[in-house]
Amino acid sequence: MPELPEVEVVRRGLADHLTGRRVSDVEVFHPRSVRRQAGGAAELVDRLKDRRLNAVRRRGKYLWIELGDAEAALLAHLGMSGQMLVQPAERPDEVHLRIRVRFDDDGPELRFVDQRTFGGLTVTDVTGPEDLPVPVAHIGRDPMDPAFDAEAAVGGLRRRRTGLKRALLDQTLVSGIGNIYADESLWRAKLHYERPTATLTRPEGRRVLTAAREVMDEALAAGGTSFDALYVDVHGDSGYFDRALAVYGQADRPCPRCGTPVARAPFMNRSSYWCPTCQPRPRRRHP
Ligand SMILES: [Zn+2]
Repeated sequence: MPELPEVEVVRRGLADHLTGRRVSDVEVFHPRSVRRQAGGAAELVDRLKDRRLNAVRRRGKYLWIELGDAEAALLAHLGMSGQMLVQPAERPDEVHLRIRVRFDDDGPELRFVDQRTFGGLTVTDVTGPEDLPVPVAHIGRDPMDPAFDAEAAVGGLRRRRTGLKRALLDQTLVSGIGNIYADESLWRAKLHYERPTATLTRPEGRRVLTAAREVMDEALAAGGTSFDALYVDVHGDSGYFDRALAVYGQADRPCPRCGTPVARAPFMNRSSYWCPTCQPRPRRRHP
């Protein structure tokens, strides 16, 4: 799954190229890419056609485009391999092109390309004072959101009865952090991923959230991380933050801080990477 910096890179590109343009035509080439739309392809086409695309917004890893006066939104689920590309009409179709959106100015088209078809596009209603798409309404603010309340998030972390990394990945408390940036933030904050959240001090909680904001800021400046070359901007180019990763994907390489070989262990069907010296495993409490 792309994480916050990769999604923000895409958001900025879409905002540059799509804002204010009116949809003239929509083609759906794969039914899985519209499976979240109750009325399928026909409903997606009907709700998009002749509408103007306005603000391109993001919360955590969720990305959407407001339609008209934000009475509805086009929500993009990037899934494992979804790409939102802006391409000249004369450019040959991508092998995995799933949805094409054309505009009445005959300018570049929006193409949803998705090799593994876990992603898709949906036109959804919006809700609440912030006009959030219904599927996004329960998602917490992310650490890069100017309205993010770090103290409340630290309190929320400490009230959980779970491990620290699991809590960071829970998108309702703090959004935007996935496996890559969780491991990098924990390394920066010198905290082990299995640290029980109930034992976390307030300064430790602040430290890990500050680290998350900093590492995602740096990743954004580098155009994001392109770990498997699927996370690309709207022109199909990938970022280069993977070169700056301290622990993620770096098993057995020296920790950039202390030189200890980076450790790796299975975690929630994926892996956790950490430095056993900088991030010692929490001591078990005796009964
Ligand atoms: Zn270390």
